[in-house]
Amino acid sequence: MIKQFLQKVFRRRVNVNTHTQLPAAQIIQAGKHKINQKHISQAALKTCDQLQKAGFQAYIVGGAVRDLLLNHPPKDFDVATNATPEQVHKVFRRSRIIGRRFRLVHVLWGHETIEVSTFRGHHLSEGDAETNDSGRIIRDNVFGSIEEDSVRRDFTANALYYDPKRQEVLDFHHGVADIRAKTLRMIGDPLKRYQEDPVRMLRAVRLSAKLGLKLERETEAPIRKLANLLEDVPPSRLFDEMLKLFLSGHAIESINALRAQQLHHGLLPLLDVVLEQPMGEKFVMLALKNTDERIQAGKSSNPSFLFATLLWHEVLLAWQENQKRGEHMIPALHEAMNEVIDKQAEKMAIHNRYTATMKEIWVMQPRFEQRSGKRPYALLTNPKYRAGYDFLLLRCASGELPQALGDWWTRFADAGTDERTAMLLPESGPKKRRRKPRKKTSVGGEAV
Ligand code: ATP
Ligand code: MG
Repeated sequence: MIKQFLQKVFRRRVNVNTHTQLPAAQIIQAGKHKINQKHISQAALKTCDQLQKAGFQAYIVGGAVRDLLLNHPPKDFDVATNATPEQVHKVFRRSRIIGRRFRLVHVLWGHETIEVSTFRGHHLSEGDAETNDSGRIIRDNVFGSIEEDSVRRDFTANALYYDPKRQEVLDFHHGVADIRAKTLRMIGDPLKRYQEDPVRMLRAVRLSAKLGLKLERETEAPIRKLANLLEDVPPSRLFDEMLKLFLSGHAIESINALRAQQLHHGLLPLLDVVLEQPMGEKFVMLALKNTDERIQAGKSSNPSFLFATLLWHEVLLAWQENQKRGEHMIPALHEAMNEVIDKQAEKMAIHNRYTATMKEIWVMQPRFEQRSGKRPYALLTNPKYRAGYDFLLLRCASGELPQALGDWWTRFADAGTDERTAMLLPESGPKKRRRKPRKKTSVGGEAV
């Protein structure tokens, strides 16, 4: 019905092409779609405008058009053009060519960066892309027409091109109809498209959770049996994709969907273990819920904090094991942190810039249990105190530590000098008393 209606309304077609398998676009004119030009970043508008003035085609493309049609504020704006990266670079003084797998141009406008890509060619039948044994595309820089470019995109909803000047949407795969029907549908043969790039399976899960779109049956069907293809994807690319997933504002739904599709095994082997323990699951779910709420409220969320929570119960376990083997508390913790991060990196490599902060947050934790003498004052001056404290509160909320410990720090941080002095616990006996590790999950914890 919707398709017929759209076909009737938007009968105009563009670019009659000789390539029979290539699609022609339906043009959805201004007034026939709900895109409000005011929701488009000035930087994206200027990028398109200048490229068009230089004689090139230029469209806002991909997720931004999809989000505008769904009335979601787009996170970032991408532009597609028939200009080569070098030609784009010449048009914009403040721009740079980046990328290896895909060469792109970043056009810089103040704080905003617009990613400009040249239309990609139709590689599959022509064998232009380098693929590995399982069909995964490794390098792919063949340029082509807009029609060819549209076939290369993943979902119909992501293959929409918006011309800001004419205020028209070019729709090559009935993406607008799918968006209206709240459907996420793979372009072409889903099985083949997942084999070309297994990350598309994660994108399917993430985008459907984030946008409330249902995975079309054939798009969903092959995912479970192809899950193991994710093992072949470089760990750093998986990390980037998982970061998007966790920071989408719909992390809980996404994780549940990943688990339902059996995609989580290869990605987060450690998280798998954590989620199997009731205490670990409660902790992680609380952390994800907090993150989702922050993001939905338009606040930022720190990836280091999030990954520190995801792996915390693994660190706890390893820490306990190391102490049981007779190691002292702090070296045992350091060793545990490294073990966990190294093991995780085999599948999904967390960037170094995040692991450093994750470790700082973890290392602070035993210090929150020391509430006598000068130590609490020193902890307050730690530049990462706030993250460490928020982490402590999550541990309390999940039942790992008594709530009274979190409350003590909340009060202590706000208290005046006299109140702080009165709050300190008496210094306990000689250091020897810490020799024996505690039994509970709170390793080395003082009783509250
Ligand atoms: P988000 O809202 O998370 O940014 P997005 O769809 O815009 O979602 P991007 O990674 O910004 O995701 O990609 C921009 C566009 O590039 C997509 O809309 C899609 O058209 C295309 N694209 C991205 N990744 C792939 C992929 N793995 N395979 C095919 N096309 C892709
Ligand atoms: Mg995007």
